Amino acid sequence: VSVDNVRRIILEQSKRANVGHIGCALSVADIVTSVYDFGLRERTGDANDRDRFVLSKGHAALALYACLHAKGRLSREQIDTYCADNTLLGVHPEHALEGVDFCTGSLGQGLSMAAGAALAARLQHSTRRVYALLSDAECNEGSVWEAAMFAAHFRLRRLMAVIDYNKLQSLTGTEQTIGLEPFEDKWRAFGWEVRRCDGHDHAALAATFGRPAGGDRPVVVICDTTKGKGVSFMENSVLWHYRAASEDELAQALRELDVR
Ligand SMILES: [Mg+2]
Repeated sequence: VSVDNVRRIILEQSKRANVGHIGCALSVADIVTSVYDFGLRERTGDANDRDRFVLSKGHAALALYACLHAKGRLSREQIDTYCADNTLLGVHPEHALEGVDFCTGSLGQGLSMAAGAALAARLQHSTRRVYALLSDAECNEGSVWEAAMFAAHFRLRRLMAVIDYNKLQSLTGTEQTIGLEPFEDKWRAFGWEVRRCDGHDHAALAATFGRPAGGDRPVVVICDTTKGKGVSFMENSVLWHYRAASEDELAQALRELDVR
């Protein structure tokens, strides 16, 4: 999948729909496409061993739609209905849309869904794996740590939590809001295998997503990322959490993608 193409769709559709969350979607564009390219063993429909993906940070749904389009799973016509009336492509993912298994967007809940899906897989004697993509700020929620405890207790080694660690949340830095550090130590203390990765390095993402758990613990991949990645004036800026671009800003952003 061409990630620049995914970024282009994010920018164009955000502008057309006049909906924000651009910085969040650009932050995870490389991660989402890498989950699809290197992690998920994609099988069609309801195959029992089809891997699952939970976009816990549902407000980055546009990155998921753009990736599904790049994968040939959503048509251009469907993408062009993003946030229009009567569409299934809303600001947050909707499981009625083919290619989406879980409704998300209520922050801090996706890891619980993923842990349940991983436990269900075991009970069904399925080898399917479950990936959950969380924002860093979601780890402010107690429900994340409840799910973390649950997953470790049940030794859900086919569960992988991936964290978009861009160190920003809606209004300011994560350390200024409710500090997460020492972040790796917290996950380790909860019984998880911890990996660290550059969330924009596709080779590194491929290596970590493709590697199964070393033992019987669930795996968390803490991905260091840049919010707004790929567009200079959106990078590391909280402004682009909510804001949509003007015509001039969109044009400049697309020019930057062209010369990358
Ligand atoms: Mg963040």
